[in-house]
Amino acid sequence: MKVIIVGAGFGGIAAAIELRRHGFDELTLLEAAPEPGGTWHYNRYPGAACDVPSHFYSYSYAQRPDWSRLCSPQPEILEYLRGVAAEFGVDRSVVTGMEVTSCHWDEDACRWTVHARDAAGERHTWHGEALVLATGQLNQPAVPALPGRAAFEGHSFHSARWDHGYDLRDKRVAVVGTGASAVQFVPEIASRVSRLTVFQRTGNWFLPLSNGPYPRTVRALLRRVPGLRAVWRAVLFSAMELLTAAIRHPGTLGRFAGALAGAFMRRQLRDPEVRRKAWPTYPFGCKRVLFSSTFLPALQGENVELVTAPITGMSPRGPVTADGRTHEVDCVIYATGFRTNDFMLPMEITGTGGRSLREAWARGPRAHLGITVPGFPSMFLMYGPNTNTSGGSIIFFLQAQARYLCQALRRVRTHRAAAIEVRAEAEAADVLAVRRRFDGTAWLRCDSWYRDAAGRNVANWPGYMREYAARTRTLDPADFRLLRGNRG
Ligand code: NAP
Repeated sequence: MKVIIVGAGFGGIAAAIELRRHGFDELTLLEAAPEPGGTWHYNRYPGAACDVPSHFYSYSYAQRPDWSRLCSPQPEILEYLRGVAAEFGVDRSVVTGMEVTSCHWDEDACRWTVHARDAAGERHTWHGEALVLATGQLNQPAVPALPGRAAFEGHSFHSARWDHGYDLRDKRVAVVGTGASAVQFVPEIASRVSRLTVFQRTGNWFLPLSNGPYPRTVRALLRRVPGLRAVWRAVLFSAMELLTAAIRHPGTLGRFAGALAGAFMRRQLRDPEVRRKAWPTYPFGCKRVLFSSTFLPALQGENVELVTAPITGMSPRGPVTADGRTHEVDCVIYATGFRTNDFMLPMEITGTGGRSLREAWARGPRAHLGITVPGFPSMFLMYGPNTNTSGGSIIFFLQAQARYLCQALRRVRTHRAAAIEVRAEAEAADVLAVRRRFDGTAWLRCDSWYRDAAGRNVANWPGYMREYAARTRTLDPADFRLLRGNRG
């Protein structure tokens, strides 16, 4: 069976490793970037790191003893992923510089046809009996369509496409957005630039992050003491489940966590004006809780201004805010996140009867366990709808998805079928259960990138990591039908 995997980030690599482990050797990973890595290839802004501890933000079967610190910086994570891909022999299956434009299910041949174009614009075609879409939720930078944006005469770029060729030193810089990316790079650039204006639309809840290098003794213990790494992983797992519990129970645990975060923030926000502006106006956990002990102090730097007046447009000299001010700057950095609800949709994906995924998702993205979609045989999503986590490691979810899709394809192989497809009623029941599970949680108490135009949270898994693991551990054959095709 030929399997085509789109994307060679953590998701694509996880799928490839699992498939190879079960004897699926004909794998092709198509990667648009010039190297594997996904988000860790693209996000290279100063201070880029993961705010999930590395001993848990890593594959369970590829544990590293020597992470340099609790939450590793981007180069270390990228190097880890490259190393794992090589160790498990899946790096050889990666074709880089290949941007997939369309995937089409051919009902007669019972196979997927995938079109891509390379960096030179040349078109390429692949065929496979199964398709894994591992393009992630956070890969297409979103830049707000501000009136007059094109007329801005200074320099600008998005945080996920950092322009390292542009020297920020002594420049007047605007940062639009205060999400997880901005909080990592603002403290890094604040002392370098002559003036920094941070535009915040919504305040955030913060918890402290102490991220100095692991002391040598701790690293030595983690390397040498049998079982210690496993214990440490279990501790991290439980701590993250606790964060999810706070989000799931905003009236009780959430209040307590909010009080802890508030106390930390009050200690950090000495300037009453900045404190007033930066304070969140929604319950703890509704948006992503940010882990940083350096961002709030940076906001109070001498050369830093926090602006909360909404940006109404761009003038040639810089952002214009609703209070009529023009903020003259040399450079605008958009830390405005990603087109999350599009998932892989810029690609044209058509399934049975020529029906496109766009049509199937006209009323919002949805999938059975975030992995399979009725009408799209032997197509599997990694990090699909409702599998993002606010209190966990996405790698944990990706491994569960890889195991699940592998079970599905093993069924195809064992039964000598042509393809496997989730039943519409199984998908509908699962989607309904997931939607209901959001009731009463903090996730529905404010606007966020997790939610679609109808207000539904289509990004997050509404429960605990352990629940997702349990739901995906064993594929229920009753949820699927095998297609016989012309190979029956
Ligand atoms: P983000 O969390 O979506 O934040 C975007 C920021 O831009 C928000 O502050 C948003 O304000 C603001 N914004 C968006 N459009 C705007 C507009 N038109 N005018 C003014 N402000 C605007 O994006 P991100 O910081 O790149 O992070 C995205 C996700 O990537 C995170 O949630 C996280 O899952 C992941 N990430 C993870 C890490 C990590 O360490 N694990 C690090 C970075 C990113 P509102 O809040 O009002 O929408």
